[in-house]
Amino acid sequence: PSSPRPVPGACFSRVRPAPLRQPRLVALSEPALALLGLGAPPADAAAREAREAEAALFFSGNALLPGAEPAAHCYCGHQFGQFAGQLGDGAAMYLGEVCTAAGERWELQLKGAGPTPFSRQADGRKVLRSSIREFLCSEAMFHLGIPTTRAGACVTSQSTVVRDVFYDGNPKYEKCTVVLRIASTFLRFGSFEIFKSADEHTGREGPSVGRNDIRVQMLDYVISTFYPEIQAAHAEDRVQRNAAFFREVTRRTARMVAEWQCVGFCHGVLNTDNMSIVGLTIDYGPFGFLDRYDPDHVCNASDNAGRYAYSKQPEVCKWNLQKLVEALEPELPRERGEAILAEEFDPEFRQHYLQKMRRKLGLVHAELDEDGALVAKLLETMHLTGADFTNTFYLLSSFPVGPESLGLPEFLAALTAQCASLEELKLAFRPQMDPRQLSMMLMLAQSNPQLFALIGTRANVTKELERVEQHSRLEQLSPAELLSKNRGHWADWLQEYRTRLEKDREGVSDKDAWQAEHTRVMHANNPKYVLRNYIAQNAIEAAENGDFSEVRRVLKLLETPYHRDGEATEVPEATEPEGAGGADSG
Ligand code: AMP
Ligand code: MG
Ligand code: MG
Repeated sequence: PSSPRPVPGACFSRVRPAPLRQPRLVALSEPALALLGLGAPPADAAAREAREAEAALFFSGNALLPGAEPAAHCYCGHQFGQFAGQLGDGAAMYLGEVCTAAGERWELQLKGAGPTPFSRQADGRKVLRSSIREFLCSEAMFHLGIPTTRAGACVTSQSTVVRDVFYDGNPKYEKCTVVLRIASTFLRFGSFEIFKSADEHTGREGPSVGRNDIRVQMLDYVISTFYPEIQAAHAEDRVQRNAAFFREVTRRTARMVAEWQCVGFCHGVLNTDNMSIVGLTIDYGPFGFLDRYDPDHVCNASDNAGRYAYSKQPEVCKWNLQKLVEALEPELPRERGEAILAEEFDPEFRQHYLQKMRRKLGLVHAELDEDGALVAKLLETMHLTGADFTNTFYLLSSFPVGPESLGLPEFLAALTAQCASLEELKLAFRPQMDPRQLSMMLMLAQSNPQLFALIGTRANVTKELERVEQHSRLEQLSPAELLSKNRGHWADWLQEYRTRLEKDREGVSDKDAWQAEHTRVMHANNPKYVLRNYIAQNAIEAAENGDFSEVRRVLKLLETPYHRDGEATEVPEATEPEGAGGADSG
């Protein structure tokens, strides 16, 4: 058994998963398991049940896969801007790597399999809600086309831990749950920070300070294994090689965060120990997808300063890369690293972001300098009018291209319908709005599926009501006046958008081909489904009551996030329970 301790001079410790009582499979992600060469589930019900029982046994850690050598990785990290010293891994265990016939290698981890020497005062366990969130979001991000660690299985149990107490002071017992994670590697920026010498703010050192031998080994391993083309190109010159490696990490990180921004993903805990050394989205904790567009959205309840707000993510990733530069010294001279960061990050982010946004807007031909401003104005319009991020882009893909005002009024009506319907609700309940009325209004919105689909979530409704209230007060506008103002904002932007679409089309002689490509690209870049908090929360609540079908259904839905209406589709239940959200803290 492991006991918590500092482990100087090492970056791994051998561990054993601690068994769980009555492990039970919540769900498997077949596409993730296929990476490991696991075949599809058998059609026969009894055989499928046996397969699930076996998955529960091995992916809970109760039995070890043949050849597994469980170990916990020792890493450090900057948490919320401060060097925190040795941090982990206190909750995830490395099992080994699967090398496939195709020549790929996949590292397996069990997250929540019990304590490791790095667990500090905690228990190394995870509960059902945090595990379902990580399991579903890992796979959702992959299917959205965003680089991420994967999740192959989620197994719960009858073992319990306490994370919270009820209002009456009684402990809330939650079921210990394990996620099987899969990635080429889980090494992170923080893996290199174990070599850090006394931090100027905290005075902390990494546990392996001064151990350049391990730093060199780790760097050699990372570059030769995950960046073989860089190793090959610079086999003769280590500094050049390390510079090329850091340049590539910088580019990948910039592209990853650009992808997040374009899908409205907020990570929530962008500490250096949650930054992958190969540019993957890693560690799904209090993450969230934007509902209505709000650049200042903070999804982590403990992030009081808003350090990890949606709009801050690019600069935070850049800051984290600066910490990686400091951790790589002296293998990469600091000035060299800083110069690369200054050269690469902003342009790479900007270019990837703009490129992706052009595709989201269906601009398939020309690349114009003014496109950045068009995107910025779109976001500003969303913000001003309280529009839902995902739904707006999804709706825009049916915006009619063509002569002047054709279809514009209808489109405008659809786009502002969320506000319109709410204005009516709001008018009906004026002038006073007490909590009871508010909840009645929410119920009304929920009982109207069309309205709900447009608004997206209850959080949107609540925020919309607050916004209407605030604006009417501040600007002395009646809700009806505000609505017409919203329409005005959208009409302005849509006019610009239409002009820009025309320019795009002009350059192409085959207009039908342009139209087909425009539609295809918009459909391929504007998801209908993202893992909104309420969708995860519904699945979690059903699972807490022993019903895993909603987790499985949502997983299935998230496998085709770009699925369009008209191509037989399922729609998530339009009910959102109280207290949506609820990640594990920490
Ligand atoms: P996070 O903020 O999720 O990145 O977590 C920071 C560190 O806290 C991780 O690296 C883990 O080592 C540790 N940690 C998180 N949850 C647990 C847990 N349940 N038991 C032990 N350590 C944990
Ligand atoms: Mg972490
Ligand atoms: Mg975590």
